Amino acid sequence: MKVTTYSLHVSLHQDCHLTVTDSKHHSLSAELNTPVQIVTITVASINPRVKPFDIRLKSTEYVELQEKLHAPIRNAANVVIHLTMSELFLETFKSYVRLNEVYRCPSGQELEPCIGCMQVNANVKLLRLCQGDSEGECQQCYCRPMWCLTCMGKWFASRQDQQQPETWLSSRVPCPTCRAKFCILDVCPIN
Ligand SMILES: [Zn+2]
Ligand SMILES: [Zn+2]
Ligand SMILES: [Zn+2]
Repeated sequence: MKVTTYSLHVSLHQDCHLTVTDSKHHSLSAELNTPVQIVTITVASINPRVKPFDIRLKSTEYVELQEKLHAPIRNAANVVIHLTMSELFLETFKSYVRLNEVYRCPSGQELEPCIGCMQVNANVKLLRLCQGDSEGECQQCYCRPMWCLTCMGKWFASRQDQQQPETWLSSRVPCPTCRAKFCILDVCPIN
């Protein structure tokens, strides 16, 4: 929700796509005297009656916002290198996941549209399959399938240290819904 002097913008979580469109460095005030990065995010809704609007927040609040959202924030502004890297990562992520064990839905369970993109049905399920891994940090996720492979890959990428892409595939991230930690071996394609 965004409130301005003359208007009120409201968009439902599950309807909106957030995209970083700009970022600027400012010196906020003399007393704080610290430069802050202000990130502009465009909120677009799949509901045609909701016009897109921009929100601005400090980069330090960005992570907080991301954690409250049910979908990844796309980053269109973050220079070409990052975009390309994310796309590369996404392709790699997908090809690894396709090698994982296939999850068979219990009969009668209908797959719902992915809550990230609403474009395709959910087609991955998180199952802790990396057991034996000496670190054993992964946790079982009990969520029903809610995400598609692309959105899960974007989520996975969005939680990584952007400066260290070499660690991306080996890291653990929280399930976007229940926060149980998972690794790439735990992402099962659904038959
Ligand atoms: Zn999706
Ligand atoms: Zn979960
Ligand atoms: Zn794991």
